[in-house]
Amino acid sequence: MRITRDLLDAIVEHAVRDAPNECCGVIAARDGAATAVHAAENLAASPFRFEIDGLSLMGLIDRFEEAGDDLGAIYHSHTRSEPFPSQTDVNFAALWPGVEWLIVGISKNAEPVVRSYLIDDGVIAEAPIEVT
Ligand SMILES: [Zn+2]
Repeated sequence: MRITRDLLDAIVEHAVRDAPNECCGVIAARDGAATAVHAAENLAASPFRFEIDGLSLMGLIDRFEEAGDDLGAIYHSHTRSEPFPSQTDVNFAALWPGVEWLIVGISKNAEPVVRSYLIDDGVIAEAPIEVT
């Protein structure tokens, strides 16, 4: 997806703020370009997984659609592993076909790394992030 530096920074800041726990949230998009970032609460409050409240997620998606946007991506962070989808992520992504899966890798000794993926039928393909 295309995303502005400000929105990307907001996602990275959220990941840093919630570390060592994983963070999570959603990105609204229009025509492949991110329009807004909504931080969500990781109900699991865990360094190993995240859980988004389904009802608030559906509420956010309704608001995006009212505004003429779509759910462009679900984001979360990995604080102890590479920013690559885990099996848990692949299973969750199966519920959201066509939605990008953006992962922020946070590690102590390196700058945060952001990657995005499309996960289709269990097949993981990296999706380019174009910072505008
Ligand atoms: Zn993950």
